[in-house]
Amino acid sequence: METKKDKYGLESHDRRFGTEEKCRQYLIDHKWKGAPTCENCSNQYMNYFITSRNIWKCSACKKQFRLTTNTIFMSSNLKLRLWFRAIYFFVTNKRGLSSCQLAKLLEVTQRTAWFILHRLRQVITEDDNIILNGIVEVDEKYISPDTRRDTRLQKKKKKHEKEQEEIHGLSREKRRRLRGYPLKSGGQKGARRKSDEIPKKIPYYQPKILLGMAERKGKAVIEVLGKGEKHRTKKNIFPIMRRHINSSSFIYTDETNLYDGVESDFAGRESVNHKKKEYVRGEVHTNTVDGIWGHFERFVFGTIFHMDIHHLRRYAKEHQFRWNIRDISEREKVDTFLDGLYGKRLRYNDLIMNPKTAA
Ligand SMILES: [Zn+2]
Repeated sequence: METKKDKYGLESHDRRFGTEEKCRQYLIDHKWKGAPTCENCSNQYMNYFITSRNIWKCSACKKQFRLTTNTIFMSSNLKLRLWFRAIYFFVTNKRGLSSCQLAKLLEVTQRTAWFILHRLRQVITEDDNIILNGIVEVDEKYISPDTRRDTRLQKKKKKHEKEQEEIHGLSREKRRRLRGYPLKSGGQKGARRKSDEIPKKIPYYQPKILLGMAERKGKAVIEVLGKGEKHRTKKNIFPIMRRHINSSSFIYTDETNLYDGVESDFAGRESVNHKKKEYVRGEVHTNTVDGIWGHFERFVFGTIFHMDIHHLRRYAKEHQFRWNIRDISEREKVDTFLDGLYGKRLRYNDLIMNPKTAA
């Protein structure tokens, strides 16, 4: 049980990382183990610090190097103190936080806060060598893009509709609207008929599919399978399961035949039939992984509000990270995150320009 002594609030965090000097000292102690090391030749001796430029100079190869090289703080103008505060908010908020909230807390622009959050996510996205044991529940989840918000998708949607009109003439809905009838969808009782839903085969509206694997009362791994139904295959899923689940584990799934044959790689597989309203059969159920999806939805729709589906993998990994550290103290959470700081960097241009890095 957490006692008053091990409470770790912003106050305690500031005592550790409240000034630039404290943050720098922390990084020197952890990144360089106390001895400033040249990034170029790994020389540790007699390197000197040029205070006015906040830079180190190597005594052997005479090259200059910075404390923040190869960390997520690299080439950022933001004060280290604010970075560490952002880490505190990011790690200890149970449902995460949006860039708007962080912008208010740090007194920076939303754009800066958005970038900070994505860099922080990058830290937990890269190191991912979790192996699950015991009983492992496996399930998939569809995440659809939000066409009302996403300008990229709206462009694709308009283009697609124009093409369709040229081929088939005006759609029924559009003809009704032109004649002055109200829109059928929404407003009417019992709304949502099947024809109102956008069919999944329309190219711009392909949902992304997540694969979730969860130990009972333990860790979980979430991976993105890909965009569209075509990625929901044994060929895609089995290697991920083999990578993250110990071969002595027992697999629990729902009734889908997608996992047929997976038992040969593991100790065995049991399934419950959700279609026949069978959710629990003795020990067999997938409630843990369903709980993770429930939390993920609340995180995305309740906290983030406006998730860009192009960055789904980072959000999924953020959720995975938060799930896996749920039982440790706040201070340990922050320390766990800080251990992963080094050797990572995310350029703003990579983030917005290159769709390949945004899995
Ligand atoms: Zn050197």
